[in-house]
Amino acid sequence: MLAPPIAAVPEATVHRIASGQVILDLATAVKELLENALDAGATNVEIKLKECGSELIEVADNGCGISNENYQALTLKHHTSKLTSLADLQDLSSFGFRGEALSSLCAVAEVVVSTRTEDSATGTRISYDKNGNIQSTSPIARAKGTTVAVKQLFKPLPVRFKELRRHLKREFAKLLTILQAYAIVTTGVRIICTNQVGTGPRTRMLSTQGLTNMRDNIVTVFGSRTAEALVALDGTSAEGLSMHGYVSKASTSFGRQAGERQYFFLNGRPIDMPKFSKALVETYRMYTSCGNATNIRPAAFIDIRLPKDRYDINVTPDKRKALLHQEQSLLEAFQKALMRVWEPARVTLQTQQNE
Ligand code: ADP
Ligand code: MG
Repeated sequence: MLAPPIAAVPEATVHRIASGQVILDLATAVKELLENALDAGATNVEIKLKECGSELIEVADNGCGISNENYQALTLKHHTSKLTSLADLQDLSSFGFRGEALSSLCAVAEVVVSTRTEDSATGTRISYDKNGNIQSTSPIARAKGTTVAVKQLFKPLPVRFKELRRHLKREFAKLLTILQAYAIVTTGVRIICTNQVGTGPRTRMLSTQGLTNMRDNIVTVFGSRTAEALVALDGTSAEGLSMHGYVSKASTSFGRQAGERQYFFLNGRPIDMPKFSKALVETYRMYTSCGNATNIRPAAFIDIRLPKDRYDINVTPDKRKALLHQEQSLLEAFQKALMRVWEPARVTLQTQQNE
């Protein structure tokens, strides 16, 4: 075989390929839009879906809006208002910083934005092409804030387009789980999500009331029965970690659904923490009085606070993973906090059994 020539992949193709890694699925698309609304300082976010989001995702906020001169930069790759230098990455408090979500959404769906800032007289509707270039703009009447509409997600990626529709139920469940995570940890913002199937009525899938603490959010999202089966968990470690949240009571016998609710947050950012999740389940099994121990999955809603130089969130484009400095000792601190909460229940149980 002759050695083939090596050539650069055309930029538009590179963009299309990479965008599929930023917008992995339905859930990431909605997550990115919700994060943008929260980063814009919104106190009201309304998520409207059609066909569970596969036909239309519309996220409307009452945040700061987008000013005229930024209409184009909005959808350009690696353009962000949230980060100006690498040093900023250390004390970042926004969800976004990579400037990839909107440019990637343009590459994998049809994107239309309508927005208005405080000081502009009218709103503007802007539609974008697949490269993120402005296709057209027109004036519209609207209140301050931004609405991003994403139509026919993954249309340009035939395999993913079909897969999303084939597994819509599962993908929608994933989306709701992510929304629930943001709804639990976000205080002071009303978040509403509705869905419409066919010409049927709009169904409310989730709503929060802009309450001020995590427990009230848990009650709003999951109901008071779930909240009553929880006990507060607080802890600190020598590494500067502090945590606050709720876990299942040791004595609770609960349905399967409740047991699957494990939400971890790192400085208020919903995140996957498989090792913490594993530690949670293993520790719980040491204490629980329920019959079949292998089926037991305690519920958890835990916000871990760490100094910003102790972790790196920039590991995957969707920022759902974190690299933790001194992870082992953080895990031990977590386990200790769990034991402190559950140990009294075991003592009580043993006393009862001995009587
Ligand atoms: P990032 O959030 O990482 O900056 P995005 O592609 O998600 O990247 O957004 C690009 C930029 O567009 C943001 O930095 C922000 O300035 C602006 N933006 C996006 N969504 C909104 C919104 N809902 N309200 C106001 N500005 C927004
Ligand atoms: Mg963003």
